[in-house]
Amino acid sequence: MCGIVGYKGFKKASKILLDSVRRLEYRGYDSVGMAVLGESGIIVKKGAGNVDKVNNELFFEELEGSIGVAHTRWATTGEVNNVNSHPHLSNNNKICVVHNGIVENYQEIKKFLENKGFCFISQTDTEVIPNYVQYFIDNGESFEDAVKKTLRIIKGSFAVVIMSEDDGIIIGARRGSPLVLGIGFGEFFLASDVPAFSECTDKVVYLDDDEFAVLGDDYHIYDFNTGRENFKKINIINWSFEQAKKGEYEHFMLKEINEQGNTIKKAAEQSIELIREATDLINGACGVFLVGCGTSYHACVSASYIFSKIAKKHVNVLLASEFRNYEHFLSSNTLVIAVSQSGETADVIDAVSFAKKHGCRTLSIVNVMGSTLTRLCSLNIMMNAGPEICVLSTKSYTSQLAVLTLLAYSAVDKFKQAKKLLVDVAGKVNDLINNINDDLKLLAGKLKRVNDLFLIGRDLAYPSALEGALKIKEVSYIHAEGFAGAELKHGTMALIQDGVPVIALNTRGTNDLLVNNIMEVKARGAFVIGIDSRNNELYDFFIKVPGADIADPVLMIIPIQLLAYYLALAKNLNPDQPRNLAKSVTVK
Ligand code: GLU
Repeated sequence: MCGIVGYKGFKKASKILLDSVRRLEYRGYDSVGMAVLGESGIIVKKGAGNVDKVNNELFFEELEGSIGVAHTRWATTGEVNNVNSHPHLSNNNKICVVHNGIVENYQEIKKFLENKGFCFISQTDTEVIPNYVQYFIDNGESFEDAVKKTLRIIKGSFAVVIMSEDDGIIIGARRGSPLVLGIGFGEFFLASDVPAFSECTDKVVYLDDDEFAVLGDDYHIYDFNTGRENFKKINIINWSFEQAKKGEYEHFMLKEINEQGNTIKKAAEQSIELIREATDLINGACGVFLVGCGTSYHACVSASYIFSKIAKKHVNVLLASEFRNYEHFLSSNTLVIAVSQSGETADVIDAVSFAKKHGCRTLSIVNVMGSTLTRLCSLNIMMNAGPEICVLSTKSYTSQLAVLTLLAYSAVDKFKQAKKLLVDVAGKVNDLINNINDDLKLLAGKLKRVNDLFLIGRDLAYPSALEGALKIKEVSYIHAEGFAGAELKHGTMALIQDGVPVIALNTRGTNDLLVNNIMEVKARGAFVIGIDSRNNELYDFFIKVPGADIADPVLMIIPIQLLAYYLALAKNLNPDQPRNLAKSVTVK
């Protein structure tokens, strides 16, 4: 997924790039690197590890110059090591590239360039880019034209920032991966995401696919296929830089969990006109598909229950990456609702693009205005959650639930009732967080050494069990699986033995049947943790969560988010940077 940045201005580039790359670390933290154009040419420093580790060894701020690029990596091609870290240089050391994405035809290009005498030192796909640019320049092209030609040849998804030593300019380009241009006074920024430079400017231009921005004394944006200049709208972003900081909290994860009382309310603050437009689409559609990945997918599964109960409406729920299999059910009457925090999730973008090819209508529920999904879909509803920096989705999940609940109620003209429900539940979230911290720290201490953990829930609590399991796996590395209460006995019960923890998510509506399932695991020695509005003698550990009827999923996930957080701390893990993961999954 990687975070890429570029700076061209009059200040010390290394300082700005280091700050930016720190703010993009949620996108990947395998390796980090920087290149600055100084008096003696381009100097590169890079290495495997996160920003703090590599910076302590290499001292990025020693680099002098006011133009440069930097990168924080989530490896796709080539193992995690110093050589494979970005930036990558051309053979003549004059062209330097940072890249997010995958060059699908890199092997073919590599062979071509090797035949022309080029050498490759890394295992990455990225290294073909600076060398192809050099190849064209060696053959008489200008830097800009060489970049254009290279971009037309490479296949796959990418966002790149390319710096030329001889020209003293940088070029940023994208196809399929995000890239935004920040415009300051006499300085320009390029980055995968706005928080990278939001401290320096609030003026941004979102690049579209197949566009490239040339940053010299001024900026120009072109289509790299036609060469035509595009004059683009400058957007003013309304996020404050403070929102993207940890503030008083030790980790972003804890900060974002604690913000939910507020963010749920904000998610419910939608204009009635926008919601009416969305519900007209829903009610007028012949076939509604909700698509998402990971946590967003779980929010969609929850929504299918809510739509069924409240709007008496069937909605299909699909993992975005599996959407193409439903090709024969797509028409101009179909509505596809795409759910993604970043609006950049490659699998979701692929599903929406596929839906559009079939003439479907499209609606997005996203957190980032200006993101690719907002530009692809005909209607967009913002989650209003503010920047979510921790790799794990917490507040964005409850915001998605809130927006989807609002839609389900509004589909049957109950917009006001939904808003009231969500405001009430937001208040309960605050109280809940304040009351359960100590219990969850204690529970995390008890569970930190277990290998497996199961979550069960019925009805509305079933998707919460799926999401809860994901939270625990992502951050504590404990194997966790969520099940519909009745399902364990169809196979997985074989794994229940003395002391295996089972978290039971119990709601008033499902109590009688779930109690049967709890008794079944108890009979096999399970250690049962009840998340419930009432205690039960079957529970070995009890977390009291007030009932909220249709909004139960919003409340039930809170203790599990906190448990996951405290499990990570108990295991000495950094909850903001789980291994192998990165936020905003921009590769398919
Ligand atoms: N393919 C590049 C690498 O592995 C970039 C990875 C990415 O953006 O995810 O270094």
